[in-house]
Amino acid sequence: MVKALVVRKEGEEKPVAAVEDIALDMLPEAEVTVAVEYSTVNYKDGLCIGPGGGLVRSYPHIPGIDFAGTVEASTDARYRPGDKVVLTGWRVGEAHWGGYAQKARVRADWLVPLPAGLSTRQAMAVGTAGLTAMLAVMALEDHGLSPGHGPVLVTGAAGGVGSVATAILARLGHEVAAVTGRPETAEYLTGLGASRIVAREEFAEVTRKPLESELWAGCVDAVAGAMLGRVLKQMKYGTSVAAVGLAGGAAIEGALITPFILRGVNLLGIDSVMQPYASRVRAWERIARDLPMDRLEAMIQPATLSDLPQLGRDILKGQVRGRVVVDVNA
Ligand code: NDP
Repeated sequence: MVKALVVRKEGEEKPVAAVEDIALDMLPEAEVTVAVEYSTVNYKDGLCIGPGGGLVRSYPHIPGIDFAGTVEASTDARYRPGDKVVLTGWRVGEAHWGGYAQKARVRADWLVPLPAGLSTRQAMAVGTAGLTAMLAVMALEDHGLSPGHGPVLVTGAAGGVGSVATAILARLGHEVAAVTGRPETAEYLTGLGASRIVAREEFAEVTRKPLESELWAGCVDAVAGAMLGRVLKQMKYGTSVAAVGLAGGAAIEGALITPFILRGVNLLGIDSVMQPYASRVRAWERIARDLPMDRLEAMIQPATLSDLPQLGRDILKGQVRGRVVVDVNA
């Protein structure tokens, strides 16, 4: 038997999540069995623990869109018992049982060997949110971002993606302007390397103005909504916004075509879920190199399986700071 956070749903009732002991043969069929050590809490996990958000295909369900641990058994030659591995994406924790259990069984193609220099705990402090932050920074670099051309904006900065993006960009020598709706996180964000804190309210107004003053040399946006609409009009000529999420709404409100035509601004969509193996490995290697581990430590909020129902509600309300690291064996 292994411990797991199981979400059950009866008919039209709301889903209910609770820690249970489950038999190993209940795990789905796949090539690699992993003894999970750590998982984490992402925005999607909040949906899968609670309302489902259209992500969960069937109940009972074990959420957890990412995990790190040790291979216990494998029918795929790429992995042997004892190998340390990390998993993000591929609809694990949504369409396939995920990391909120002491054991997980997954396809070999979905795994990445743990990069040298990272522990399983550090890998999950990074997790899907951190991998996405790195992919966003890499996409901005591919489109010409380099230090010394002005401040880079990070929205939703006190959240998971925003915290890691802030720390990576600062480490790479960028001046980071961190947008937050929680003024009490200012000290935390400057500790991660932000040079400037910008109040979320400054971007709240939806305006039909075609353009505003050129302010930002790049942007990692986790929020969308009215904020992204305003940010696009403030981008410097020829720069890019890497859009990763929609914590503030699924639309880009108030935006016009003008920034794209008159300022050559690029809007880059970032998806971590279906990242091919080579790109995931490259991003993890960059994380091991470019993310300061002392700053990563400052982002961690430790948790256990039984904390997850509450944390799922908190992250949907935008109330989680940094990265929750779930010790599934605690
Ligand atoms: P978090 O909840 O940790 O962070 C989101 C942050 O956004 C909050 O902390 C808050 O930051 C801000 N925020 C929340 N609600 C609002 C609002 N109504 N208006 C403005 N700002 C708001 O989530 P993550 O960082 O893990 O994920 C952020 C987004 O990115 C989510 O939409 C998630 O689904 C998506 N995502 C996408 C991935 C991809 O592959 N594309 C992978 C991972 C995540 P503050 O308090 O500082 O203002």
